[in-house]
Amino acid sequence: MPKVAREATNPRKPKLGQHFLQSEAAALRIVEALGDVSQETVLEIGPGRGAITELLARRARRLIAVELDRVLSAQLRMNFSLYPNVEIIEGDFLKIELDTVFGAKPGSVRTGLNFTPEPARVIGNLPYYITSDILLRLLENHRYFSTIVIMVQKEVADRLAASAGSRDYGLLSATAQLYGRVEQLFTLPPSAFNPQPKVQSSVVRITIKPRAEALRVPEAEFIAFLKLGFGQKRKTLWNNLKARYDEDTLRGALVKSGVKPAIRAEALTLERTAALFRALAQTGS
Ligand code: SAM
Repeated sequence: MPKVAREATNPRKPKLGQHFLQSEAAALRIVEALGDVSQETVLEIGPGRGAITELLARRARRLIAVELDRVLSAQLRMNFSLYPNVEIIEGDFLKIELDTVFGAKPGSVRTGLNFTPEPARVIGNLPYYITSDILLRLLENHRYFSTIVIMVQKEVADRLAASAGSRDYGLLSATAQLYGRVEQLFTLPPSAFNPQPKVQSSVVRITIKPRAEALRVPEAEFIAFLKLGFGQKRKTLWNNLKARYDEDTLRGALVKSGVKPAIRAEALTLERTAALFRALAQTGS
């Protein structure tokens, strides 16, 4: 998945991407985008000072909130100590063991050695300096999650939700859309946060529904193929794929799948990219 801009290491910038929501109305809209959570486990990434946490604590059956900042997580633990359904974990979302987090919960099912997690809903006003790493982790571990509602830079939201053929469609869009339905819900101005970020922010909802099986492609190999196809932005699909496939194989597969060699990967829907992938796989190269 492509990287999104990281905040430069600048001492005047808020540490750990800390831009706290100061609009209660916005916090409520984000929480409402998760739907009815009264019977659900919710995972919050980066609860910060608890703007979203507070609303969820009263609504969710179980809330697990992971905060990296030691001081903030201690404050959260204190503030939510009277809520038996709220668990504050001090840690890095990119490193926590998801099996441990979702394993020992009331009502979970363990059948022999096969642990079937009960999918949780995810919410987070994400730290923008690691948006793509967090997204990738969520998508790769999609078996744990049913719905993901996240606040990201508007530019990232535009890319996540873009349709094939549009200006913003790229590897990020194709990868996210391989795992589910992506909706861009609403946009907030910098003034909704304190301190204010330099960029606009949008809330995106991903309803997990992996599509690899329906597209008849193996997930990991297909993602590697997408990376190759989108390899160099200005190159045609032909030129990007030429690095891996010999010209005769490529020509045959393009003809078989009805894809024009001069096309760019951004113009192809996932269905057509999958058809090309299958045609290439059939040639055995
Ligand atoms: N949810 C709060 C709100 O909306 O006001 C805070 C959002 S702030 C944009 C991002 C939060 O993520 C901060 O509290 C920051 O400390 C936390 N954070 C940064 N990196 C993290 C990581 N790797 N794992 C968990 N939390 C992280």
